[in-house]
Amino acid sequence: MMYSEHAHHVDPHSLPFVPIPGSTSSDAVVKLTLLNCGELIARFVQFRQRDTLEEMKTEEVIVIFAWVIEKIVDGKTERWMWDLGLVSDKDRLGPSLAHEMDSRFVFNVPPSAQLPELFTHLSPPPATLDTLTGVILSHAHVDHYGALDEFPASLPLIVGPGTKAWVESSSEEDRSIPLGFWNHPNSVYETGEDGARGKGKEWQPVGSFEGWNYFGDGSLWLMRAPGHCPGHQVALCRVSTSPDTYVLLSGDTCHSRYIYMPFPTPVARSDVACWVHPSHGAAGSSRGSTTMHVHLEEAYKSIAKLTRMEMEDNVICIVAHETEVARELDLRVGDMRQGWEKWKEHGWKRGKENGVHPRPTFDT
Ligand SMILES: [Zn+2]
Repeated sequence: MMYSEHAHHVDPHSLPFVPIPGSTSSDAVVKLTLLNCGELIARFVQFRQRDTLEEMKTEEVIVIFAWVIEKIVDGKTERWMWDLGLVSDKDRLGPSLAHEMDSRFVFNVPPSAQLPELFTHLSPPPATLDTLTGVILSHAHVDHYGALDEFPASLPLIVGPGTKAWVESSSEEDRSIPLGFWNHPNSVYETGEDGARGKGKEWQPVGSFEGWNYFGDGSLWLMRAPGHCPGHQVALCRVSTSPDTYVLLSGDTCHSRYIYMPFPTPVARSDVACWVHPSHGAAGSSRGSTTMHVHLEEAYKSIAKLTRMEMEDNVICIVAHETEVARELDLRVGDMRQGWEKWKEHGWKRGKENGVHPRPTFDT
């Protein structure tokens, strides 16, 4: 992880923006299901910067989201997972990763909320192992690949460009995913390469990002969002036409609503937390130089891109750990939420549009 004290919020107005291409058919949509796969309780503040060292010692709780993306292609339903949540038992990750996790987090993932078992507790299940087409990961981190080894090895795995080189060149100590999990799928493809081209033809500007038009009709754009880790990607999903509305599955571009919201004034947004890694000292003992992002400057650029998308009236961004969304939609651990094609009518963005205070008094 790299820290630059010069890295800071970027003005979203300074970014190039290409209007999102409109739909040409009412079929050019995907259907989304949001899954609450559990919580990560950080032993000290690691996500959203607080003002004092004392505050940096406090616990920070975040939700863990995954999504089911459904799409009718040539009369047949394709069903993709976007991320897989987290394992219940951190010992399954092997000694070095389990130790790293344990020094920083408590896992709150009841076995019934761990995918794929979670499917069997939902009614009706939004997917089953035999109805899945494949798995797409925002990135290869522990709270996103979940129990990948419990999914059929025959399911293709799609990751963002740069993921394979990163994972495969990492030493055993630094590897973010156990080899047993990574080697489990028969095929791993990077967005845009053979096997993961879908109906896309090339990388194209879309909104503030660069995206891959996976189904060819603008219903699912896989978009590069660098900064958090190699290969980190987000997904822009069109969920309705006339009018076109979108949900942007925003991965770990940042780890709190209050880092990319409110807009447009960067000064009103929280900074990315800088903290002391447990191997370097006690939490809150000094200002710290570790962040959640491998390249903080790039991360702030991607965060500004997210803010710019959120400024569009017909786009709602949801980061993978947006605890406020779980609260607003009363989505408990192990619950699911459908109806995203009507998020605007339901008023699901209203809490943000009303300018929720950027420093809530309750803890996030
Ligand atoms: Zn994450």
